[in-house]
Amino acid sequence: MNQSIQRQSPNNVSLLISQSRTNTLGNKTGTWRFVRPKYQEKTAPCSNECPLGVDIATVEMFASRKDYQRALQAILMENPFPAICGRVCFHPCESACNRQFLDQSIGIHHIERFLGNWGLSNKHSQINYPRLNGAKIGIIGAGPAGLSAAYFARCLGYQCDIFEKSDKSGGLLAMGIPSFRLPDHTLTGEIQRLNTDGIQFNYKQSITMDQLDTMGQSYEALFLCCGDALPISLNIAGAMHTIDGLNLLRQIRKHEAPVLGGTVAVIGGGNTAIDVARSLLRMGAHPIIVYRRTRNEMPAHPHEIDAALDEGVVLKECLSPIEIQKESNQLQMRLQVMKSGEKTNKGRQIYVPDGNHSETMPVNHVVSAIGAEMEIMWRNDQWDLSMSHCQMKNKSDIPVFWCGDLTTSEKTVTHALASGKQAAIAFDILKNKGPNEIHSLCHKLEVGTGPAMSFEIYRQGKRKQRSNSEIVNFERVNAAYFHNIPAVQVNRLSQDTCLDTFDEVISGFDESQMIKEASRCFNCGICNDCDTCRIFCPEMAIQWDQNSRHILMDYCKGCGICIAECPRDAMNLEVEP
Ligand code: SF4
Ligand code: SF4
Ligand code: SF4
Repeated sequence: MNQSIQRQSPNNVSLLISQSRTNTLGNKTGTWRFVRPKYQEKTAPCSNECPLGVDIATVEMFASRKDYQRALQAILMENPFPAICGRVCFHPCESACNRQFLDQSIGIHHIERFLGNWGLSNKHSQINYPRLNGAKIGIIGAGPAGLSAAYFARCLGYQCDIFEKSDKSGGLLAMGIPSFRLPDHTLTGEIQRLNTDGIQFNYKQSITMDQLDTMGQSYEALFLCCGDALPISLNIAGAMHTIDGLNLLRQIRKHEAPVLGGTVAVIGGGNTAIDVARSLLRMGAHPIIVYRRTRNEMPAHPHEIDAALDEGVVLKECLSPIEIQKESNQLQMRLQVMKSGEKTNKGRQIYVPDGNHSETMPVNHVVSAIGAEMEIMWRNDQWDLSMSHCQMKNKSDIPVFWCGDLTTSEKTVTHALASGKQAAIAFDILKNKGPNEIHSLCHKLEVGTGPAMSFEIYRQGKRKQRSNSEIVNFERVNAAYFHNIPAVQVNRLSQDTCLDTFDEVISGFDESQMIKEASRCFNCGICNDCDTCRIFCPEMAIQWDQNSRHILMDYCKGCGICIAECPRDAMNLEVEP
């Protein structure tokens, strides 16, 4: 029996909405159907860009519900260090975020940082490592790649012995990033997560290539995660008057830095040059970054360059040092003026000397921050296995994996973490399935277009059920469900106070800010239980029971309304078999 409900439209014309007072169980419409809907989760574009393949849509969903435990566990499945990455990762995830096409990208790294901090102050966030399986791995280097390899290998049941030549863990994180970007307590707090039965740290242990053969007798695999530890020197007359930038950052971190006042030229355009210049500002000096190309070509992350310039660092572009002369208490640095030349095959702009044009810059000190390279002994180009972030060679019948800076061309903390993860998974496949399975199985673990790999998929978690290679771009989001909400601005020290201290410049979101920002996320490609599909189904064929939503195929007539209405493309329409 139908009943009419009378409503008033805005212009007072009656609207008649028919409403059934019985259920529709008698009307089986399934026989009409030639296509059928299916719940099918996919990959969000942010996850596709994250080198670690973090399941960001799921993280934001739990974070917005204040379910911090599950949000953090979702990150820790793919990334051992959310509080660190939330501070130092260059967050390529945000450049791919669909929300930018409506208003502004989600502040993914600020949310990650909040959750990482929450984990540090909450002992329930510790990892439940599995039992040891009896096999042992030796890891050379306790930087990001080595720590990540140890974490994922331990999660797979391997005992890991880490050999580190310095007296602490962290590598570049501990020695090459200033505390105003990454405080000690955050770094040591997250590394504590690895302090478990089965991960053994051995400090002040410098390993050489010759020792690897002997070490191989005690381990089933060796992971070389030494990082680029050899500073590249300026090859010009007077180079002996320069100070090494990485070493200076290390000294600052240990409170052992020399006093550097006056004008200090910092040569280079990478993140180290930026970190050195910002540190010098805090030490009372006047840093000038001298770079041989323009700002657009600087390898440093754009947001770090912005931060340095905002704080008062001066940037001199298209100048390349050719000579440094010492004159009493000053240095005279002669600089070649550069100009743009042709482009390489890959489209990179080349800079060449602009005739004989040069200028002289009087400075008190010169810091060289033009990069670092691997120590010669780790060089190799004959691989038995070559992957995106690690390479392997059998040495005396022991697989030796080259990881982190030793193999990846993108030398960021996050790529180093991804490298350690890839090496741990590749070794597990090698051990359990043999060398021929590594490439094909790793390919199945890729998130989106790769090369990021998912540990959750490898562990046969829920993410395995997704169509992981399908990426939900903005055209696939039902934008009608979302309205403009400006991004939440993060708290930071004021410009006046930040230069008086090495305290963190960015203090992050408080809880309400974090929830507000996480709630802006579309949760692209995953089902967040919004129930829109069930509400809109004209046949009432979608049922919610036992904590899951399912489609009654006897009543679904395959109209596809549920799929069209799903705000986040978490359903597919398939042709009837
Ligand atoms: S690790 Fe970096 S890229 Fe990945 S989610 Fe975190 S901030 Fe984004
Ligand atoms: S809206 Fe959320 S899930 Fe979608 S791309 Fe942005 S952060 Fe990722
Ligand atoms: S409409 Fe909502 S409940 Fe239905 S599949 Fe999409 S996200 Fe999940």
